Amino acid sequence: MAKVSIDASTCVGCGLCEQSCPEVFEVQGDGVAHIKSQNCGSCNLQEIADSCPVNCIKVS
Ligand code: SF4
Repeated sequence: MAKVSIDASTCVGCGLCEQSCPEVFEVQGDGVAHIKSQNCGSCNLQEIADSCPVNCIKVS
């Protein structure tokens, strides 16, 4: 199963990942995205990681 992580020191909180998959990503009060769940049945998490403007989402 894919393991998703975010480098919080690089994330700029743009919200793109959350818009793409709010089941997995949430930009919280600290201004950076957090992982809510490792799984989404319908999203391609690698595609979302590739669309992050600062490339701080890793799918391994
Ligand atoms: S797309 Fe990338 S920079 Fe934007 S909120 Fe998500 S993790 Fe942060």
